[in-house]
Amino acid sequence: MSSKSIQHEPLDSAQSVELERGRLNSLINSMGDGVIALDKKLNVIITNGAALNILDVNSPLIGKKIESALFLLDNDDHPLNVHKLIRETKTHSSSREWKLKLSDGEIVNLYTSIAPVQPGYGKEEMDGYVLILRDITREKSLEDERDEFISVVSHELRTPMTIAEGNVSNALYIFKNSGVVNESVQAALNETHKQILYLSDMMNDLAMLSRAERGKLSAKPESINAHVLVEELASSYKPEIESKGLKLKTEIDPKLQVLKSSRLYVKEILQNFITNSIKYTKKGSVTIGAKQKSDAGINFYITDTGIGITKSDQAKLFHKFFRSEDYRTRETSGTGLGLYITLKLSKLVNAKIDVDSHLNKGSTFTVFIPNLDEE
Ligand code: ADP
Repeated sequence: MSSKSIQHEPLDSAQSVELERGRLNSLINSMGDGVIALDKKLNVIITNGAALNILDVNSPLIGKKIESALFLLDNDDHPLNVHKLIRETKTHSSSREWKLKLSDGEIVNLYTSIAPVQPGYGKEEMDGYVLILRDITREKSLEDERDEFISVVSHELRTPMTIAEGNVSNALYIFKNSGVVNESVQAALNETHKQILYLSDMMNDLAMLSRAERGKLSAKPESINAHVLVEELASSYKPEIESKGLKLKTEIDPKLQVLKSSRLYVKEILQNFITNSIKYTKKGSVTIGAKQKSDAGINFYITDTGIGITKSDQAKLFHKFFRSEDYRTRETSGTGLGLYITLKLSKLVNAKIDVDSHLNKGSTFTVFIPNLDEE
């Protein structure tokens, strides 16, 4: 019996190019993310359905200049120069902070990725760009709701926590002075007090974290008198420092100039370093200092003569929830969030942190706070 096979006509090269192009088109069109390809002059050469949906247009935009098709806003709703932005992209970059303004005025939160297309290995010049767009409005509003929830909850819990802390510490005081000796009651009260303090630290950290994570809270520069700030911090921490038997020192450069930054953030950053220096120092001193660094800004530093930090721990200090394994760290309560938040806050004010620490000798945390431009 002879078998019949179906004979295909061989495709000529034009047909196979057409077939390939069709395949590529349907592939790009079935992508969930918006794709826009641009030529060297930033004219649109390809768009897919998802891109047109996001941009809310019906025509494929082919041949249009990208700046006439894509209106991006920054975090503060200021228009971005899309042409310049794309031109200056030398390697792949992406952002979740930009927004898209539609022709009817509606604003959409966007994930935007910009990738230059290189013609071939080792070739320097660009062959165009590919943009990927994703509407993340819903994700963003969930993030905002989460942050709002955390800040409301932590705010509401602050009052009962303060009352509980006050009462337990009163009870402890009365019990100690009552002449009654009952070690288990004393231990229970001590433990309750310690846990309430831990809870309130945790609530404060969460509130600060949610504030720091709302990147939107762009720091508004104010005029800060750094001399007064250091003295205020010193006098508010003096009782705690002295009650631990430590000495408080301040070193204030007489040449300090007025600093332009966010007072709230600078204060929170310094407070985190100061509370740590007190917590991780058993004897010696805590120094709070400020030194003018040209006209660019001020170097604040907190030095302690405490337990110090090993080189390997120094690399992890700013990680979320990191706490050293050192038993002396574990003797104190802490969330491991303080320095993580400090780093986030310092990014909001363009600050730079340096750590210099030696085990069993002490640590210095220096933070350079630059003068921010006023808008
Ligand atoms: P927490 O103090 O709540 O544990 P932090 O994020 O503020 O969290 O600090 C992370 C860790 O870094 C601490 O647990 C401690 O191990 C270490 N650390 C921070 N500051 C100091 C310091 N001044 N001296 C020694 N260790 C420190």
